[in-house]
Amino acid sequence: MSRTPLSTSLDAFEVWFVTGSQNLYGEETLRQVAEQSQAVADGLSGLPVKVVWKPVLKDSDSIRRLALEVNGRDDVIGVVAWMHTFSPAKMWIAGLDALQKPLLHLHTQANVELPWADIDFDFMNLNQAAHGDREFGYIQTRLGVARKTVVGHVSNPVVRRQVEDWQRAAAGWAASRTLKLARFGDNMRFVAVTEGDKTEAELRFGVQVNTWGVNELADAVAAASDADVDALVAEYTASYDVAEELLPGGARHQSLRDGAAIEIGLRSFLEEGGFGAFTTSFEDLGALKQLPGLAVQRLMAEGYGFGAEGDWKTAILVRVANVMGAGLPGGASLMEDYTYDLVPGAERILGAHMLEVSPSLTTAKPRLEVHALGIGGKEDPVRLVFTADPGPALVVAMSDMRDRFRLVANVVENVDAPDLPNLPVGRAVWKPQPDFATSAACWLAAGAAHHTVMTTAVGIEVFRDFAEIAKTELVVIDDDTTVRDFQRELRWNQAYYRLAQGL
Ligand code: MN
Repeated sequence: MSRTPLSTSLDAFEVWFVTGSQNLYGEETLRQVAEQSQAVADGLSGLPVKVVWKPVLKDSDSIRRLALEVNGRDDVIGVVAWMHTFSPAKMWIAGLDALQKPLLHLHTQANVELPWADIDFDFMNLNQAAHGDREFGYIQTRLGVARKTVVGHVSNPVVRRQVEDWQRAAAGWAASRTLKLARFGDNMRFVAVTEGDKTEAELRFGVQVNTWGVNELADAVAAASDADVDALVAEYTASYDVAEELLPGGARHQSLRDGAAIEIGLRSFLEEGGFGAFTTSFEDLGALKQLPGLAVQRLMAEGYGFGAEGDWKTAILVRVANVMGAGLPGGASLMEDYTYDLVPGAERILGAHMLEVSPSLTTAKPRLEVHALGIGGKEDPVRLVFTADPGPALVVAMSDMRDRFRLVANVVENVDAPDLPNLPVGRAVWKPQPDFATSAACWLAAGAAHHTVMTTAVGIEVFRDFAEIAKTELVVIDDDTTVRDFQRELRWNQAYYRLAQGL
């Protein structure tokens, strides 16, 4: 059977740079428009996604055709548009109506400083984005086009940063639109927040969410060869600080071999099906000898999405965050707010899971250990043990609110953890913005889930852009948040998102 290794790279993606004008100006001016717009597009070179300049658009038909071409190209993940001159916006109606890809409106200018002493009306005629882009803004707003607007010259690092954030969000969107997610078993019995409308998820996010019997996975695990297990054990030994008892010849070496077989089987199943995300369920492990821990941790670190207890919504977020953070330091992982240190004024959250936290959250060498797990009724699982690096982080959850999905994000700071000699799991310790009590009160008011993706690679702006592209509610808890305002925002959103859906 053919196998497709997962790609989490942005290298194959492009965004197209389009410039609006019209035929009114004559050849000489349009030649300058073309030259200067190429220079602006070049000014965006070096960003994670390649920016490709396209010939200047001057009429409705070419604009519509460009939109259709973009829609048909899987590698073109978005469009950057700029009106260098004045492009009468009725020419953009058919194209904007047809465009199904993320749009960034770059409100810029060819020059930084005005040549005050030399300005004549030819210059004014050529450089009129100041009002040409307002005409474009009007039609986008009138048509209800979701987009990001970035203002400033491309030589400004803030502008480049904003375009990069949007590129990353567009890449996350492209990954979501093509994501196939395998659930091994259903979600945990009686749990509410891990339920959700999988049909709606395919419409809203493009994700195919389907379930396989866990024994199909167990069959793939049983098919792992001794030679493949040997090779993977050697890789573990080279990559991690492996507990003595797990090493070849050690008393519990077989546990490590069983863990390696689970990774081999899981990977082959995912690659054969072209899956980019998956879930497991400790209540439904079939013939698997252990709850998958080490394997899940390593696959998340490679870019797979994962949710525990059948939580496919968080698995989507982990995959999307992995793609959005491609090439950046840090990573993305399933996370769960586990327990609190409630010392007044110094509150901290200890986050972890049974096993499944991605080692991409640490730059230290994880320790590979085996311990009993009082849940799942299987053999003791192997797992990587580490603490997430201190530094800025973000946790994001997705809830099904019955008529829509809601994303809730909290900007947090991972901090150094005290020694945890009796807690052999991957974990993170953090302080939430703006303070513990406000963060938790808002999180609970929003009905946000207990599972999250924690990302240490991308910030809140990338998730804001993603939510805008996905036309999905995102409420953010950060240093500007108060409980009163947050509750008001939830109420307004309740009305807005219902109205925005139409009847
Ligand atoms: Mn859980």
